[in-house]
Amino acid sequence: MVAETYETTGAGAQPEGDFDAVVIGAGAAGLYALHRLRGLGLSVRVFEQGDGVGGTWYWNRYPGARCDVESWDYCYSFSEELEQEWDWTERFPSQPELERYFNHVADRFDLRRDIQFDTRVERAGFDEGRNRWIIDTSGGATVSARFLVSAAGCLSEVNKPVIPGAETFAGVQLHTARWPDEGVDVAGKRVGVIGTGSSGVQVIPQVARTADHVYVFQRTAQYTVPARNRLLDDEARQELRDSFAERQKFKRTTPAGLSRPVVPASSDLDAAARAEILEASWQRGGPGFAMTIDDILTNPESNERAARFVRDKVRAKVDDQAVAEKLVDIDFPIGARRLIVDIDYFETYNRDNVTLVDVKAAPITEITSGGLRTLDAHYDLDVLVYATGFDGMTGALLSMDIRGVGGLALRDKWADGAGTYIGLVASGFPNLFMITGPGSPAVFSNVMLSIEQHVDWIADCLAHMVEGGFERIDADPEAEARWTRLVEDLVARSIVGKTNSWWTGANIPGKPRGITMYLGGTHNYRAACDEVAANGYEGFTLTRPADPA
Ligand code: NAP
Repeated sequence: MVAETYETTGAGAQPEGDFDAVVIGAGAAGLYALHRLRGLGLSVRVFEQGDGVGGTWYWNRYPGARCDVESWDYCYSFSEELEQEWDWTERFPSQPELERYFNHVADRFDLRRDIQFDTRVERAGFDEGRNRWIIDTSGGATVSARFLVSAAGCLSEVNKPVIPGAETFAGVQLHTARWPDEGVDVAGKRVGVIGTGSSGVQVIPQVARTADHVYVFQRTAQYTVPARNRLLDDEARQELRDSFAERQKFKRTTPAGLSRPVVPASSDLDAAARAEILEASWQRGGPGFAMTIDDILTNPESNERAARFVRDKVRAKVDDQAVAEKLVDIDFPIGARRLIVDIDYFETYNRDNVTLVDVKAAPITEITSGGLRTLDAHYDLDVLVYATGFDGMTGALLSMDIRGVGGLALRDKWADGAGTYIGLVASGFPNLFMITGPGSPAVFSNVMLSIEQHVDWIADCLAHMVEGGFERIDADPEAEARWTRLVEDLVARSIVGKTNSWWTGANIPGKPRGITMYLGGTHNYRAACDEVAANGYEGFTLTRPADPA
């Protein structure tokens, strides 16, 4: 396909490049999108705000950052050669290893030449006359593209709460997802950490090793289970190589997209058998704990038994029982928030240099030049770490000013909730595709497999358009409404999300509440997307240049 030249209709300069497709972000999704779309013969430009590839694994370089999906599943499956030549060293890959992997992928598939680093997409408006997106970037350049693909990520827009006095702090303040490349020396320092989600639980044991003292500001206690991370030996790697084809096939049939999923035991069990299964899962480690018995996420009694099991384990690990009780004071069902997977988290509270501060009982009131004040005390600090998470699912998309038909802003369309059709498109925003967008399984799955499935579906759709001479595709509002209702119904039937968290948008003031992930399983989601395509892109309107508008 030959790139054409179009004039911008926006107020900015003339386009400085005209592409078949612009991809936003060079993380796992953006890299694969570039590879696939380029393979169709399309001209593609990727804009990436960082100066390197890897997305999540580029930004989240705090000590202890590690994936909680096993390495043999948290990787691409589109290339057997790539899989065969890459050696994972651990069960759960660390941030440095993942960053190396994505750099290897970028080099191996010669992707860098189409990526423009240090460049944010600020605005994108759909030019209805030409059926093209006009895209303004942070560097001041304006480009145009027939198709716009967001690979901006569903956990990339940082949530940093505004705390009075933050600007007066004399020490170092930093967010886990913006950790500097050169690291931060906490040796001998007094460090405060706000937040005990996955990021906090990973960073706290690491900083505690060298800091003079660590104050953990915990607002909501969380369920966390041991990772039981381990090194992989040559035999394990060979076994993974040998089983490549079989694993790839199998994981596409499983709800979470994992090749070695936890197979839930039937709930028809007596108390002793239940305890035995939970113990075995605890010893195995990893995030499958709440799936160990098939009624944990649906039956409140079974859920409470599993929750009690975890609380008792924590009490046994923590020496000071007053501290243990604060750590297990959890008022929501297990599985209602994303289960955290930890390495030596609870054991860290047995160190003399770690103090748990309950900021639910005595909330944070201000940051001072010398530290942090709660309702009942002041904590002197040299370093303040915000492990306060992200504006999930919609944050990165809405951080850009995206305008569709009639100049409608995506922010306005989603003011009361992020409706999409099959999690990939939003009606009224033609030729815009979202990878791991709202209404898709996103991170409620092995996100690497979801990314590949989304990109493959989008690439097939674009190939269909090119072959059929279509230049515009838009979702029908009724189809979008039906899909959005399905997503909501699946959420309503589950324990998942029955408490405040980033999953429900409750961590961001003013954000509409509700889980916007498809909870029906990646295998069912894939089937639904495939059916839409097989039925001639049912629920979409495709338009050729000559067709009346
Ligand atoms: P998070 O789960 O949203 O946790 C944020 C933490 O900050 C919570 O403890 C929250 O308390 C606290 N917080 C926020 N604002 C606060 C305030 N004003 N005062 C006191 N506490 C405040 O964020 P995250 O830990 O970065 O994890 C987000 C997601 O990223 C995870 O669920 C996971 O999907 C992904 N992740 C995965 C890994 C991994 O693979 N192992 C690692 C890191 C992140 P409340 O709970 O009271 O709001």
